[in-house]
Amino acid sequence: MTYVVVELCVDCKYTDCAAVCPVEAFHELPDRLYINADTCIDCDACVPECPVEAIFADTNVPENYAHWTQINIDEAPKYPIISQKIPALHGPTCTGPEE
Ligand code: SF4
Repeated sequence: MTYVVVELCVDCKYTDCAAVCPVEAFHELPDRLYINADTCIDCDACVPECPVEAIFADTNVPENYAHWTQINIDEAPKYPIISQKIPALHGPTCTGPEE
């Protein structure tokens, strides 16, 4: 099992999730985060931290985001780890709150 960041994160990139993760499972891309399936211990701590509800257990990913599980698995390890909160990207397509 693992947890998965879905499309709702794209262009928002809040990093509250990365700050609470006990095992540094989040990896940072320019416009989003992904979760490393080999690192995640399924603790659920990140889920309530996301202002746009972009994180799901892989057993609970909505059908329209199902392909994001494999995207996280494949792509996360290619990017650097992020384990602290930084200012949100909050780009033009992000519908989440201003920080
Ligand atoms: Fe990290 Fe826990 Fe979220 Fe997995 S479920 S990414 S271990 S905070």
